[in-house]
Amino acid sequence: MRHNALGIYISIPFCRSKCTYCNFASGVYPVSEHSRYIDRLIRDMAGAGPWAAGLGVDLPRTVDTIYLGGGTPTLLAPQLITSLFGALRSEFNVDPDAEITVECAPGQLADGALDAIVEAGVRRISLGVQSFIDREAHESGRLHGRAIVLEDLRRLRAAGIHNLNVDLIAGLAGQTFASWDESLTTLIDTGVPHASVYMLEVDEDSRLGREMLSGGARYHAGLVPEDDAIARMYETAIDTLASAGLAQYEISNFGRPGFASRHNLRYWERRPYLGLGLDASSMLCETMSSRDGEDAVGYVLRSKTTDELKAFLEASEPPETAWLSPDSQHEEAWFLGLRLNSGVEIASLQREFGRTHVARALEVVEQLVIDGLLTFDSGIVRLTPRGRLMSNDVFQEFLGLAAQEHAVGNPS
Ligand code: SF4
Repeated sequence: MRHNALGIYISIPFCRSKCTYCNFASGVYPVSEHSRYIDRLIRDMAGAGPWAAGLGVDLPRTVDTIYLGGGTPTLLAPQLITSLFGALRSEFNVDPDAEITVECAPGQLADGALDAIVEAGVRRISLGVQSFIDREAHESGRLHGRAIVLEDLRRLRAAGIHNLNVDLIAGLAGQTFASWDESLTTLIDTGVPHASVYMLEVDEDSRLGREMLSGGARYHAGLVPEDDAIARMYETAIDTLASAGLAQYEISNFGRPGFASRHNLRYWERRPYLGLGLDASSMLCETMSSRDGEDAVGYVLRSKTTDELKAFLEASEPPETAWLSPDSQHEEAWFLGLRLNSGVEIASLQREFGRTHVARALEVVEQLVIDGLLTFDSGIVRLTPRGRLMSNDVFQEFLGLAAQEHAVGNPS
């Protein structure tokens, strides 16, 4: 991984059907919108360098990770996939060893799309399986069953793509401990080198969430397991995957040695990325000299686009942008770093933010160690197994440390 290279995230918000639990900025849109959307992405790619320069940030031109998420990017016509990657390669210097990932819903990878992504240099596929039990997959709105997933994995390997991730969700409607074990065992039997396991968090804006709030049986809300059961399923996943060689390296991510997602690591390690498309955000870094001229201070820039397709396609204003104060960066360093099993190294935070800032955070750490949610050994702070289950509560404790973000033009 290059130290000063950029990662690029591209959101492709098109789905064939909407899953019951999903509240992402994605939807079922007419194919006619696909080419308009890709045109817009290509324009934004060309405008990214000047946009960053206008804010005083030098956008790295070398890219070492690319991630097409969504949505279901493989629903794009092959020529649109080819145009998108062609534009990426002409605007940026894509490292020959770049990790290029595309998300895919099982059963939605036509031969033409598979040929186009292989031709474009895609080396990693993330499959949104969620469950290997056909009934659970169907009742959550997925259009696939286990046989389709296994066939997709076979086709991907035959096409030369072996860096494969499978997503599972603990807590789907109707899921039992026995069916969860079966999904985990099937995942292990497939031999994929990476897995992502999420505990179902039902958002009230999803169809399932609305049914849980107001009643009904259409989306099987009454069959969603209790929180305690979901937590036990997650703990089972950690042990079962570890015993099969898929070690946990982040709250939701597990991999064989050498297969951790390089793109996702850059979020947790706070390295720069450019987000393009609907609901995408960017984090760019600038290095400045401090007032005494001795230290270099990093300032982080964020932008987030709208989550509505029509507004996105018609918008002419640049995305909302803010400088993050050093306090906000310090706060992020905690709640992003703690996601990783490798934890947060205190000496490195002290070098970056100064001892006084970190001393305030260490008071929070001390209390969370007493509460059994963190450990603090050999200068490294990590979540305990219970802390991982309650990670949102732990992160909340670090939020009070930061001052408000500053407006652009006042990066101090
Ligand atoms: S495929 Fe993914 S993005 Fe699309 S509706 Fe399902 S969960 Fe949401």
